[in-house]
Amino acid sequence: MTADCLFCKIVAGNIPATTIYEDDDVIVFNDIKPMAKVHFLIVPKLHLDSLKSCDVSHQQLLGKMLLLAPKLAAEQGLQGFKTLINTGREGGQEVFHIHVHVFGGGLPNT
Ligand code: AMP
Ligand code: ZN
Repeated sequence: MTADCLFCKIVAGNIPATTIYEDDDVIVFNDIKPMAKVHFLIVPKLHLDSLKSCDVSHQQLLGKMLLLAPKLAAEQGLQGFKTLINTGREGGQEVFHIHVHVFGGGLPNT
């Protein structure tokens, strides 16, 4: 856990979230300000600031996160969905713990 990281606090259970999936490597919860009817975040339990902090040692984890998207989207009743990874301030990233957004049931405003 990294001090003062919002998503590390959610991973640790110190801040509540509506969790829809969890295993040893990842936690998935609904976005607090949804931009679509379904909007959840796939978050690794390992703290990584952004995609820029990743290297080949994170390949399996990143692949696992992406493969969870269609599985969980289907469980949420979606036929199709949009994914987004904001990277860096100029890339629209606000929470510096890597996460994949999954949107469905209406287009996000981004
Ligand atoms: P990003 O701009 O890609 O870093 O996205 C951060 C996302 O985290 C935004 O969509 C926020 O609405 C969402 N968010 C911020 N705080 C929380 C929280 N406590 N629980 C769930 N989602 C959050
Ligand atoms: Zn973190």
